[in-house]
Amino acid sequence: MVIAGKVVLKKGKEHSIQRFHPWIFSGAIQTKEGNLEDGSLTEVLDFKNNTLGFGHYQNGSIAVRMLSFEKKSPDVKLWQHKLTTAIQLRQSAGLPSKTTKAFRLIHGEGDGLPGLIIDYYDGAAVMQAHSVGMHLYRQEIANALKETMGDDLKVIYYKSQSTVPGKLRDAELDEYLHGMGVVPHVIPENGNKFYVDWEEGQKTGFFLDQRENRKLLGDYAVGKKVLNTFCYTGGFSVYALNAGAKLVHSVDASAKAVALTEKNIELNGFNAEIHKCFAVDTFDFLKGKDGEYDVIILDPPAFAKHRDARHQAVRGYQRLNAEAMRVIKPGGIIFTFSCSQVVDRQLFYDTIVSAAIQAGRSIKVLHHLTQPADHPVSIFHPEGEYLKGLVLYVE
Ligand code: SAH
Repeated sequence: MVIAGKVVLKKGKEHSIQRFHPWIFSGAIQTKEGNLEDGSLTEVLDFKNNTLGFGHYQNGSIAVRMLSFEKKSPDVKLWQHKLTTAIQLRQSAGLPSKTTKAFRLIHGEGDGLPGLIIDYYDGAAVMQAHSVGMHLYRQEIANALKETMGDDLKVIYYKSQSTVPGKLRDAELDEYLHGMGVVPHVIPENGNKFYVDWEEGQKTGFFLDQRENRKLLGDYAVGKKVLNTFCYTGGFSVYALNAGAKLVHSVDASAKAVALTEKNIELNGFNAEIHKCFAVDTFDFLKGKDGEYDVIILDPPAFAKHRDARHQAVRGYQRLNAEAMRVIKPGGIIFTFSCSQVVDRQLFYDTIVSAAIQAGRSIKVLHHLTQPADHPVSIFHPEGEYLKGLVLYVE
């Protein structure tokens, strides 16, 4: 791999890198040498010129994303090494298993590859670059992935049109780097079946991060009337039905999402008698639904994508949760989530407390939920934790 230049850090700014934090902010840089362009591989040095490691350079607030914390420069084996380590981590967490054949294979910083996401859907990998560096190395990464996974991998789809920095976003970007997939593709997750359409769907086509939380929902859904809001492809709805729910209603503002949910319900052998879909806004849907549901799931999209939007997001979570708490049957259960990275666990909890005060009902916390093991968080990069959830009992 070509090392295009050097970044020398200001005195004292080496400490976070020595603790394996994977980002260098532009303000930490003393000097830049060589021909550093967006996506170039750069050496990183401390103020005394000691090598701290190597990373992808990109003009912006995060100026370097670290790929290696070693003194020797990385070669093409880096990708295979990181992929093998990631596969071992998944295997130790029981993935894949007989009943689950879809999981996140690379979770950016959590797997030592900042800017890269790879989701594995039973034979197909969907790769997503969030940095110019990962975009430029996409073919090398795909080659390493083929070598590492062998026959377990038939297809690699590269889907980065909406995630790479602005100037790279052209329509040509989404493409097969290996094989050709037939979408939708069926995956088993804890024995539930789902269609995944990585070409047309949101993100990489499916939300793998709710797998364990959906399983827990199944335990609470038996014989119950369940409302799954922000349902997307109906993950929670399918689990509730397979677990033995009496009735499930799924709500999403997108008509496309609702159609996907309906297909997944059918795929699992259920019909319109036991399940209904509504293509409406959740806030509107909840109006007048007092006492109708035993279990309500609230899994909205990230209300805040940036720090500036945090206050507005908190108000959104508060209003949504207060409304669900108000309408749910006595003795009901709420599964509530936030995937906004800028709303941390404590802030989310405090927001739910204030929603409870507003709803004026007695509420108990039964579970604290998070993202599963295939979305690991580096202990030195706590920013990697984004999914927070609570299971509430409303008296
Ligand atoms: N729970 C899902 C993932 C949710 S993604 C799963 O387990 O797979 C968030 C979804 O919320 C998206 O499908 C989006 O279309 C939907 N959405 C966004 N705003 C909404 C609103 N105001 N009301 C209902 N759905 C909304």
